[in-house]
Amino acid sequence: MVAKVIFGRGSFNQLGEIIAPLRKNELAPFIFLVDDVFENKSSFSSKIPLLYSDQIIYISADEEPKTSQVDALVEEIILSTSNLPSGIIGIGGGTILDLAKAVSLLLTNNGSSEDFQGWDLIKNKGIYHLGIPTISGTGSEVSRTTVLTGPTKKLGINSDFTPFDQVILDPELTVGVPKNQWFYTGMDCYIHCIESLNGNFINSFSKSYGVTALKLCEEVFLNSLSHNESQDKLMMASWHGGMSISYSQVGVAHALSYGLSFLLGIKHGLGNCIVFDHLEGFYPEGVRVFKQMKAKHNVSFPKGVCANLSEKQFDIMIDVALSLEPLWENAVGKEWKTQITRSLLKDLYSKM
Ligand code: NAD
Ligand code: ZN
Repeated sequence: MVAKVIFGRGSFNQLGEIIAPLRKNELAPFIFLVDDVFENKSSFSSKIPLLYSDQIIYISADEEPKTSQVDALVEEIILSTSNLPSGIIGIGGGTILDLAKAVSLLLTNNGSSEDFQGWDLIKNKGIYHLGIPTISGTGSEVSRTTVLTGPTKKLGINSDFTPFDQVILDPELTVGVPKNQWFYTGMDCYIHCIESLNGNFINSFSKSYGVTALKLCEEVFLNSLSHNESQDKLMMASWHGGMSISYSQVGVAHALSYGLSFLLGIKHGLGNCIVFDHLEGFYPEGVRVFKQMKAKHNVSFPKGVCANLSEKQFDIMIDVALSLEPLWENAVGKEWKTQITRSLLKDLYSKM
């Protein structure tokens, strides 16, 4: 679990106060990994409490995090400081939060980040890492994974050392999120809830978070809330949805979406939406409400993304999807291999 969290509009202003006691010495900087959407917003960057040799590294979130990107960032940080940093602070969406978590772990675990894609392969505690989401939905701020695309797979570094040491939840930071992106990332949370609550791994702990997150998502996407209330509630939904899947598992939409993202680079939130639209056979009620939300907000997704793919490309996506065994076991049961065939997945992908 995340050790410490503060929530509140304007709580970002407390960042300096929070990290001051954690500075090891003047030569051990804090490294701020920040979404480059904030790069020229002086009202934002002036609030980052830089001291001594602290650095801001602006990073584009146009593409999802890669293992090679994590390795390059770790090298850049090691070469630029004589001491290990005092901490890594990630400010952005799931992309930047996952990078911050991975960089913190790779600074204390020798090797390439691709060596650690999997479950519980990390042996050493990472350096202090603090996460500040600026868009709500992925639950990365609370989860025990950091999802990376490597040369052969898209898979998280799942470990007890992955969660942030501190999170600051300030809904005001989500103010500039474009509407479509708000929907895609918000639906990631909604889909986490549906897959967790309808899965075989569900338990009372996970359910309590999933039910709360689902109710918040329905309020945000089906009711007409005030702007502030909507921002606050979606941020809390993201947190609770992330908690729910951390103690259960995701399902069919995520398995298929990982395939889309690995082959075609389609980003997680949008990929989930493209897939989920076709999953009434697995999640009938969840998909019915999803379509209602989509219609209410007048959002559409690209069609025919798999229209011109070769057999080989279908095979790559199907291999990625089928490799995510815990997701299928959660969604379908221990005997999932008898039901989830390559031809079923090809049919589903062909519709997208
Ligand atoms: P993102 O971080 O990729 O950002 C999406 C877009 O929104 C980007 O263009 C970004 O610049 C922009 N943006 C973010 N905040 C903004 C703001 N306040 N104003 C204006 N623009 C803003 O989006 P995401 O959906 O949060 O993250 C997707 C990533 O999260 C994927 O890489 C996915 O694999 C990962 N993920 C991780 C977990 C986990 O548990 N670790 C769970 C789900 C998804
Ligand atoms: Zn997700």
